[in-house]
Amino acid sequence: MTGQKANKINIINNKLRYKIPNNLNQRLSNTILTKINRRGKYLILEYENNLFLLLHLGMTGYFRFSKIYNFKKHDHLYFKFDDFYIIFNDIRKFGYFKLYEHKEFVNCKHLKNMGPEPLKKEFDFNYFLKSSKRDTKIKNLLMNQNFVAGLGNIYCSEILFKASVSPQRNSKSLKKDEILNIINSTKKILKKSIKLGGTTIKNFIVSDLKIGYFKNELNVYGRDNMTCKRCKNLCHIKKIVQNGRSTFFCSNCQF
Ligand SMILES: [Zn+2]
Repeated sequence: MTGQKANKINIINNKLRYKIPNNLNQRLSNTILTKINRRGKYLILEYENNLFLLLHLGMTGYFRFSKIYNFKKHDHLYFKFDDFYIIFNDIRKFGYFKLYEHKEFVNCKHLKNMGPEPLKKEFDFNYFLKSSKRDTKIKNLLMNQNFVAGLGNIYCSEILFKASVSPQRNSKSLKKDEILNIINSTKKILKKSIKLGGTTIKNFIVSDLKIGYFKNELNVYGRDNMTCKRCKNLCHIKKIVQNGRSTFFCSNCQF
């Protein structure tokens, strides 16, 4: 898509978490898409006329590439290029698109207070120590996008398992080696997952979409009452709810 102009942006169904702006075609068609970036869980499409299209895939949003356009249930919009289509489909409708001028984009509420990227050097021991002084459970801290960008529910459970730290620990109580373990586990798990194509969630079945093979590497997420892969028969994985979200952990391996 980069370096190209869409000759049409067609909205099929504007009902997403926020309504798709109805001026997308007017503002962005026949305009070169100069860059695609990512920040946290957002994709950022940058256009030559200094407009920015911010988009979030929500839970089940995805793009498909096609030479011709065939309607599929839950299609929301497509970008039509000279000889292909890029189509956005979202079953659960938690995804969204927002259009910004440059000056309002840099301060937009979605990006303004976002924490560092977990794979960047800034996400290190000193940053963790200085930013984790809040009285909060470590699982909730990792989920907080203002602390570190982009970590979702599945990865937070997996990171804490790999680091052998209980999700119920208060972040203030963590010792130096535990913090270092969490940081290293975060970087390792994300790198491995990216290599394997991410994690496809349970009830997200799209026939023409490849599954994310990191799903096969999950040690705790979605494995409640199953045997822990590390301590074998000594413990079963537990599921608890923290901040309204499921957390999975092994009480024998995580302290
Ligand atoms: Zn275990």
